[in-house]
Amino acid sequence: MEEKKLNKFMDQAINDEILEKLSLKNRYQFLNTTLMTALEPEQLNFLKKAEKFCIRYEKKNDITHSGDEDLYEWIPDFGKEGLISRVHPFDEIDLSYPENGLAVELLRCLALNFFDPQFSMGGGATVLAINPVYEHHENIPIRLEVLKKFVTGETPGAILITEPERGSDAVHMLSLCEEQPDGSFILNGEKIYNTNAPKAGYVVAYATAEKNNGNTMAQFLIDTTWDGWNCDRVFIPWVPRVWLGHEHFVNLRVPKEFVLGGIGKGREHLFEGLVPERIGIALDSTSQCWNAIAHAAIYVNNRKQFDQEILKFQGVGFLLTDLWARLTNVTLGLLRFCEKYDEKVEKFGGELPKNLSQAMVASASMFKYHCTSLSMQICYEAANLMGGAGLCDNTLMHDLLNISRIQEIVGGSRQIQQYIMSMAMRTLYKMTGI
Ligand SMILES: Cc1cc2nc3c(=O)[nH]c(=O)nc-3n(C[C@H](O)[C@H](O)[C@H](O)COP(=O)(O)OP(=O)(O)OC[C@H]3O[C@@H](n4cnc5c(N)ncnc54)[C@H](O)[C@@H]3O)c2cc1C
Repeated sequence: MEEKKLNKFMDQAINDEILEKLSLKNRYQFLNTTLMTALEPEQLNFLKKAEKFCIRYEKKNDITHSGDEDLYEWIPDFGKEGLISRVHPFDEIDLSYPENGLAVELLRCLALNFFDPQFSMGGGATVLAINPVYEHHENIPIRLEVLKKFVTGETPGAILITEPERGSDAVHMLSLCEEQPDGSFILNGEKIYNTNAPKAGYVVAYATAEKNNGNTMAQFLIDTTWDGWNCDRVFIPWVPRVWLGHEHFVNLRVPKEFVLGGIGKGREHLFEGLVPERIGIALDSTSQCWNAIAHAAIYVNNRKQFDQEILKFQGVGFLLTDLWARLTNVTLGLLRFCEKYDEKVEKFGGELPKNLSQAMVASASMFKYHCTSLSMQICYEAANLMGGAGLCDNTLMHDLLNISRIQEIVGGSRQIQQYIMSMAMRTLYKMTGI
């Protein structure tokens, strides 16, 4: 037991009493109390159920969130509990989750992020692989089988868009796909920074029939045991327990039934996936903020300096409440967006019409832009309010601080979101007829 503790802490800086108060259970308690009025009773029930699972899981497995723990080992257990993705009910793979949709997904993210921010981020990448397989399974048995493996936690998934020479400019890809007479494809090329890829049993990847021609892009499901799949790990020091991939496709053959979108369909499928991807990052970033605020709120209500709880000093209390107010308001906006999205999905029988989905592009960029920026500010300032205790390894604060620094890059950088928003504003302006 003592040995495990040493694995987690280089040294314990926080006193026992405050450290105990920062427990997962107490941080959830802070979250639930703050969100109580914003959530419907059934939403709060779902959140509490997910939290209860995480608290028990942490305790039962003696999880300390230290660097030597393999978060990929936890995935099957979270899969059994139905906590990998709740975006869809997943009737087609006989799961039929009664609580599903984007609003439920926000609650799932909150519960998992409080438990372990890096685990939650890795899970987010699996969701990105789930979405295209869900949209394009066409009842083909192998696709449904892979979908079930992702959703039930049998394997993590990954999405391969970025290339070493094509990051922000994702539609001018260099990885090539060549169609064969039997409908299969041969892939050659290189991808990079793909979250979970070295650990994933299957991935979703894009390639193009002609370099730099977005009109010839295609989308594939790949089994990572196939010949021609070569994957090395890219180590990102700010998320040391998440595995990212750098892949080389060398004459990688993809059978016809694994082709999710043939030549000419790739770009459409890519854009279709970007709205849920950006919202997903917004949900996770918002959850990071709440986790940081919960830590700081508990800490400053207990830490004393000059014989007073530090919350009582205006420099501390007013800064924390400013962050808290901004976060609460963004969360309410995000929740409203998620609920409206879910309403529309229900109204249109499970799938959004193209024009509506298009209209969501600007909102998705706005939330991605705003929530990731907020995560960077809130995680930093909340850690700051905890002084040295916010920087050492005794709590999840250093994980939050580190993870908050990559959110603006993942899923399209800040500048790219601004570019998308300015284009959307141009379209909107033209629609006004002014
Ligand atoms: C931790 C992590 C996880 C990731 N996970 C995945 C994943 O699962 N799958 C995947 O496919 N990719 C993933 N990525 C890749 C990520 O999406 C890219 O890193 C990102 O899109 C930026 O691409 P780039 O790194 O090539 O930077 P570049 O595109 O080279 O950008 C460099 C800088 O230039 C700016 N810039 C570029 N073009 C413009 C422009 N037109 N206007 C203004 N500024 C511009 C950018 O904003 C940025 O600041 C991940 C990255 C990280 C760091």
